[in-house]
Amino acid sequence: MTEKLFARLQEIYPELVTFRRDLHMYPELSFQEKETPRKVADFLTQLGLEVRTEVGGRGVMGILRGGKPGKTVAFRADFDALPIQDEKRVDYKSRIPGVMHACGHDIHTAALLGVAKVLSEVKDELEGNVIFIHQFAEEVIPGGAKAMIEDGCLSGVDVIYGAHVASHLPFGTVGVGEGHLMAAGDTFEIDIYGAGGHGATPHLTVDPLVVGSQILLNLQQIVSRRVDPLKPAVVTVGSFNGGEAYNVIPDTAKMKGTVRTFDKDVQDLIEKSIGQITAAACESAGASFQYKYERGYPSVWNHPEETKRIEQLAKKLFGDEKVGHEPPHMGMEDFSYYLQKVPGTFFWVGGRDEEGDKSYPHHHPKFDVDERAILTIGQLFVSACLNYISDGLVTPELQKEVGF
Ligand SMILES: [Zn+2]
Ligand SMILES: [Zn+2]
Repeated sequence: MTEKLFARLQEIYPELVTFRRDLHMYPELSFQEKETPRKVADFLTQLGLEVRTEVGGRGVMGILRGGKPGKTVAFRADFDALPIQDEKRVDYKSRIPGVMHACGHDIHTAALLGVAKVLSEVKDELEGNVIFIHQFAEEVIPGGAKAMIEDGCLSGVDVIYGAHVASHLPFGTVGVGEGHLMAAGDTFEIDIYGAGGHGATPHLTVDPLVVGSQILLNLQQIVSRRVDPLKPAVVTVGSFNGGEAYNVIPDTAKMKGTVRTFDKDVQDLIEKSIGQITAAACESAGASFQYKYERGYPSVWNHPEETKRIEQLAKKLFGDEKVGHEPPHMGMEDFSYYLQKVPGTFFWVGGRDEEGDKSYPHHHPKFDVDERAILTIGQLFVSACLNYISDGLVTPELQKEVGF
């Protein structure tokens, strides 16, 4: 069956490229997606699937019920674009000023639709169900995943897989990683209220810039002195503002920053520490403050068995040398919410075009990838689906490897 489905994927590949390029030409920003979910829903409806729209807001779900009872496998693709001006020279460049598919979510969408199409053609033979989750707003917190889950997109789901095309990996390769793959990303804001005055009479003021500077420097001690050195963490202040004139001490100063962590304990510790450091500096200077800490996406934690499954399938499909272990990195992804609910894994699929002009990083105005990544994702999803539903929790080979 796998061979047959791969052949079909190959046959419909031109259609998937056309779909991808259409999305690429008409990208839509997070939380503003309108035409994209409509196009996705139309495609799924034409396949004869049960389709739910406006899931959690702007999400779309395709539900494929197999001819025989069995497990339920879910796949997720995101479909939002970014506020970036497309600077590529290709005929499918963005037609929308200032908006661009600069992360590859158009590739994910086309790949998942391809998987839906080929699996729907064999649905009578399928022992189990498949849920296609087309997610809105991955790029902007609070993201679409959480809302889609709250709206029931994971109900009855046994396992979930997600893939991201990677411009840092060459086309044809796959990157997997067990456990922590991507970080939790939070933001914080500190407003410092002093008492302004003349720059020549600082003794009559409470200078919020000096207090803020102290806070900024002391924040550097959180990672170096308070966090376990074996646990990765980042505290970055990205903005520190206050005052405008040469000779005026302002009343207020404002600081903004981001925190990246993998462990919840570390995240809690950092949130608390920023507050303590701020309070101490303000108290000793007689300033007051307001501290706001907002949690973004949790860290992506890949379940070991499902990660091994993808690794093993990828090695079988593309060769051992094409599959690597990806180290965790400090970027974030709201796929983490799905993995908190059901087992699964998120993996990277190489999209770097070695010959062409497509090796720019994600979120770059010239970002593009080798479109054949659509096929890589499609093949892996199809084989993961068949492998999971036909063999239950683990394959015999996997059983040996993970010692079940
Ligand atoms: Zn992105
Ligand atoms: Zn992305």
